[in-house]
Amino acid sequence: MINENSPLMNTYKYLPVNLIKGNGCLLYDNKGKSYIDFTSGIGVNSLGYNHKDWVLAVQEAASSLQHCSNIFLNKTVYELAEKLTKLSGMSKVFFSNSGAEANEGAFKLARKYSFLKYGKGRNKILSLENSFHGRTLAALKATGQEKFHNYFFPFPEGFEYIKADLESLTKALTNDVCAIIVEGIQGEGGVHPLDKNFITSLKKICQEKDILLIFDEIQTGIGRTGKLFCYEHFNIKPDIISFAKGLGGGLPIGGFLCNNKLQNVFNPGDHGTTFGGNPVASSAALTVLKNIANEKALKEIQEKGSYLTNLLKDISSPHIKAIRGIGLMIGIEVDINPSSFQEKALKEGLLVLTASTNVIRLLPPLIISKKEIKKAVKILKNILENWEE
Ligand SMILES: *Cc1c(COP(=O)(O)O)cnc(C)c1O
Repeated sequence: MINENSPLMNTYKYLPVNLIKGNGCLLYDNKGKSYIDFTSGIGVNSLGYNHKDWVLAVQEAASSLQHCSNIFLNKTVYELAEKLTKLSGMSKVFFSNSGAEANEGAFKLARKYSFLKYGKGRNKILSLENSFHGRTLAALKATGQEKFHNYFFPFPEGFEYIKADLESLTKALTNDVCAIIVEGIQGEGGVHPLDKNFITSLKKICQEKDILLIFDEIQTGIGRTGKLFCYEHFNIKPDIISFAKGLGGGLPIGGFLCNNKLQNVFNPGDHGTTFGGNPVASSAALTVLKNIANEKALKEIQEKGSYLTNLLKDISSPHIKAIRGIGLMIGIEVDINPSSFQEKALKEGLLVLTASTNVIRLLPPLIISKKEIKKAVKILKNILENWEE
């Protein structure tokens, strides 16, 4: 199946497995071998696989009205908007199809707000070094990693990177800055939670200078860290929240929420998308929220996260350099090649992700059981303790 004559563009390095089916937190290949899933399709399949409520919701939505365009208001989409704004305490939401598209919309909203209030020229968006915000041109430009800024010139203007410290922030705060975008935990950058003191000061400065604080919750949001959104761990509130990955439980949906300061910035014609707010994806998202966005489920995620972290901390391997993360978003920094580890784990029936150049990243479905966590850690431990390149 995978060869140089593949009709697929050469953009992904495929792992040597053909997954065809899933159930709960297990995935199966075409030979019937099972794998414990610690990837969730990069934090997407929050409810695992073949989840009864989710499948039913998707089937019902698909057989009622699969799409009707945003020139018609759809009840399911409206219901999802109500639910998300209520849960987050934000004023309005816009639905897109992906994370990158969500951030693009968030940038447009921030720039229009600033234009209406301060006029031309106040449009710069700051982001952090080592961040990741998506693959479209502006989202890529906002991504604070030089390796992404080759070939595709020219990039949109008005982006600048800072280190996650006050000195770097203060220096970058010229009069042309309208917004700053951060991830509560830098995911692709290697699972680095942000420093709480930095976030507290950042919020204060943003408020004083009317600079919009955008939280990119695309990977960290929708229960992943044991709170609905990761910013809640820092006791602050952003002005804009972008989300995607985990919300649809496997169907493409993303978007951004804004507070009341921004609620009247967009008018018809300012922004839009064909598929965004699709009824089937929205119905799937409502099911995810029903199962995840409640105190009991979130508490369980926190507990399972601590359980996993503690088991990992008990592994005595010289290859483990650090264990980081919150809830069920965990990174193991190693001094071995995480991709080689990934392939070995695959052979042993465990699917994991990598991040940066030296991190094994764990993003199990949020419904994972302690029993499965224990099994997975046993495999992990075995590989690390018997490591040979
Ligand atoms: C995955 C991710 C994105 C991009 O999302 P896509 O759906 O792939 O466009 C943006 N920001 C963060 C933090 C992400 O993890």
